[in-house]
Amino acid sequence: MENKKKQTVYIAYGSNMGNWEEVKEKVFLLIENSVGSIIQKSKTYQTPAWGKTDQPDFKNGIIKINTELSPQSCLLALQNIENQLGRIRTEKWGPRIIDLDIIDFDGLVFSTHELILPHPYAHKRQFVLEPLADIAPNLMLPNCSKSVSKILNSFEDKVVLKILE
Ligand code: AMP
Repeated sequence: MENKKKQTVYIAYGSNMGNWEEVKEKVFLLIENSVGSIIQKSKTYQTPAWGKTDQPDFKNGIIKINTELSPQSCLLALQNIENQLGRIRTEKWGPRIIDLDIIDFDGLVFSTHELILPHPYAHKRQFVLEPLADIAPNLMLPNCSKSVSKILNSFEDKVVLKILE
């Protein structure tokens, strides 16, 4: 039998519609069932909306998973979960029940029209870096010369984020 390699993947979640307690439970279950086993979860942070600011605050966090899926299959599985939970893509950066982004896929550097790895904005967003630093402070994102915690420490325009859980 083929012995597939388990890859470590960091996934960012964000939500600013619906009942977060219910959404969270469903998202984590669907990820376990169709993407891979969840190894670690960050705290969840309440963060002001980014890009398009006239909308409710987001709940943001990071999970670390092990998966045997390819990067493309992983993205498709995450998009299926977004669709199953009723995400309707209306406006860019608009409100959403759930947004799932691949932040790092086992250190892979990869770029196609559909998928860019590592996530191009990961190192520029406090709502990604802060939860990522909870579970992987020493992680070096590919193409970054500093660890996640060092990037966060030297981050300009840092705000205090409310911790939800
Ligand atoms: P979003 O609106 O945040 O769900 O992202 C829109 C598009 O980003 C999706 O259609 C993906 O094809 C693309 N994308 C590129 N790189 C990534 C990544 N690392 N993780 C998730 N989506 C990505």
